[in-house]
Amino acid sequence: MMTAQDVKRYLAELRGHPLESVWIYGGEPFLYPGVLAEVIKISKRKGIAQIGVLTNGYWATSPSAGLRKLSPLKQAGLNAIIISTDGLHAEAVSPDLAINAIRAALKMGFKKVIASVAFIPPRKLSNPINDRSEEIWAKLKGNPHLLLEENPVVFIGRAAQELSDYCQPKKLKAAQKCKPPSYIGGSFDEPQGLEIDPYGWVMICPGFSLGNAQKQPLAKLVEQYGNSGNTLWSIFCSHGPAGLLNLAQEKGYHQRALYASDCHLCYEVRKFLQPYYPEYLAPAGCYNEISRKRQRVR
Ligand code: SF4
Repeated sequence: MMTAQDVKRYLAELRGHPLESVWIYGGEPFLYPGVLAEVIKISKRKGIAQIGVLTNGYWATSPSAGLRKLSPLKQAGLNAIIISTDGLHAEAVSPDLAINAIRAALKMGFKKVIASVAFIPPRKLSNPINDRSEEIWAKLKGNPHLLLEENPVVFIGRAAQELSDYCQPKKLKAAQKCKPPSYIGGSFDEPQGLEIDPYGWVMICPGFSLGNAQKQPLAKLVEQYGNSGNTLWSIFCSHGPAGLLNLAQEKGYHQRALYASDCHLCYEVRKFLQPYYPEYLAPAGCYNEISRKRQRVR
């Protein structure tokens, strides 16, 4: 788990790089309320304008419980919240709890309240997950104070392993360029953000790491980005996922006939390359096979 001390150090190391926002997500940050509150306070003391958390809302067991949980965090400086609720999350957390959390955040006047609803693309594809997501979407829409975001599943890591079977796979050519996930923003040449996992891996896209901030100063990793001289990143920056595919093929990778999406192709290629570049295709857990395969229901 990332500690509040880790966050304090990362923010101190980034003092030459003004930050507009800090988002705390997991896993599920509300499982560690003490650390969550401390990270919010540290970010507030650093003068960061937007401090947000991403949660599934499991803790809002009633409207009043939602208010009780959020109140001290708002006082500490939390001003933005994303609540994930959809056909995937509903398997573990009832959408009713997420709705309690959304109502509590709206009632407390958070600057930004977003409900994030995931769909397996394309959204119109009917399957048990998308059908449930549509039901939840219908319940949430129409509130002018709530930002309702459609969030297409990206087939990386567990999503690639568990959900790609739901798609209609396509014959794809590897792309020469791609954009980082929307929560990072910008381009790979000039990303607007980065994410750091509990073990210190610093990423622009999940499983694609600049290095480890537990081993090297974060500012150094950021400053040498795009100029690190490491083969994998320089191939990716010049030729995108297509460059990684060529590299993998030179090492014996056989391209599949079909993939669920461009990111699925890229992820499969990276999974093949991971043992060759463990420092950059990290954390390794992003590439491990998941033993429990989701039961496919049609
Ligand atoms: S998975 Fe690959 S193709 Fe998708 S955004 Fe990340 S680097 Fe780009």
